[in-house]
Amino acid sequence: MTNSELLEIANEYGTPTYVYDASITIEQYNKLHNAFSPLDVKLHYALKALNNVNILRILKKEGAGLDAVSVQEIMLGLRAGFEPHDIMYTPNCVSFDEIREAVELGVYINIDNLNMLEKFGNEYGNSVPCCIRINPHIMAGGNSNISVGHIDSKFGISIHQLRHIVRLSEHFDMNIIGLHMHTGSDIIDADVFLRGASLLYEAAQEFRDLKFLDFGSGFKVGYKEGDIVTDIETIGKKIAESFQEFCKRYGRDLELWFEPGKYIVSECGKLLVKTNVVKQTTSTVFVGVNSGQNHLLRPMFYNAYHEIENISNPNGEKRLYSIVGNICESDTFGYDRLLAEVRENDILAIHNAGAYGFTMSNQYNARLRPAEVMWFNGKAHLIRKRETLEDLYRNEVEIPELV
Ligand SMILES: *Cc1c(COP(=O)(O)O)cnc(C)c1O
Repeated sequence: MTNSELLEIANEYGTPTYVYDASITIEQYNKLHNAFSPLDVKLHYALKALNNVNILRILKKEGAGLDAVSVQEIMLGLRAGFEPHDIMYTPNCVSFDEIREAVELGVYINIDNLNMLEKFGNEYGNSVPCCIRINPHIMAGGNSNISVGHIDSKFGISIHQLRHIVRLSEHFDMNIIGLHMHTGSDIIDADVFLRGASLLYEAAQEFRDLKFLDFGSGFKVGYKEGDIVTDIETIGKKIAESFQEFCKRYGRDLELWFEPGKYIVSECGKLLVKTNVVKQTTSTVFVGVNSGQNHLLRPMFYNAYHEIENISNPNGEKRLYSIVGNICESDTFGYDRLLAEVRENDILAIHNAGAYGFTMSNQYNARLRPAEVMWFNGKAHLIRKRETLEDLYRNEVEIPELV
């Protein structure tokens, strides 16, 4: 997508608008898939990153399955046309009723605590297969907010409780078909990854009916120039090798699964915003735009860096700005950025906004969520309308005496 195509989109659909380039989604999916060849790795796209039905359908066409973390996400997947057996349900701290619902929908269930495993065994015995989420206690990723495999993490069943997992599964004659680990985002080091994997290989020897091992996700993407990114070719090769050796020891070929979110959809997405004001204060030149942390939470929530570009005045002289939103919070997209000179009404593109952008957006300050547009087959398609005032109070119920 060129800048002039982006400007046309901003012009036609207004701002703020999320724009996704479908070809980049497809390219990322295939890059990841091919990195593990000769293994035919199964990728379950983690739809919490971006769940528009058109993104889901594009990935389905490429051969992806889905990783869902709520029953509602399962329903979105089924609505997009996925078969139940292409969906893995990986919940955390949900009620057993929600597990039951998922069983009835026919999806794979990933169990993440011992009580739930015991209940599951009690209720279903070996009539419903399940997968077990193991916490290998590998410290991966740079930021403790996105690292979910450490000792204090709420996720998974500790590898140290393996003996009890085995005891329960034997007692209830359970059909354990998969072992899973997801150690968190931003894995850049194949050796860290392989350390977790080797613990899973060892644990796998306790279960004879396995169909797959699922290594979760954590593939890092570059947010700014010079960022260390997952070297997917190297990691893929190393993991494929170690997995094939494991299969030999296990005595049978298993499937290798992953559940990437960010890697698949981060780079395809940009948030287009318009400049409302350029405001010089005593210390800073602020660019105030018609969006904010309610639309893209990552900078404020994770201290994430997103590249910002002035696409309507690309040849302007470079100047130093802080780019802020219109929400009544400190609400900053980026501090001290060099941008081509920004004027009122200039359109800025915030890059790498496909993953955890729209899906984390909200209506704080009674502002409306943005529209979503997909660049597909050489043209722009509106794939979600901008919200309207009515969306803000649609579910409100008025007390008659107060009217
Ligand atoms: C969020 C999540 C993922 C995806 O993580 P990314 O960093 O976006 O690739 C995968 N698996 C599970 C269980 C998750 O919760």
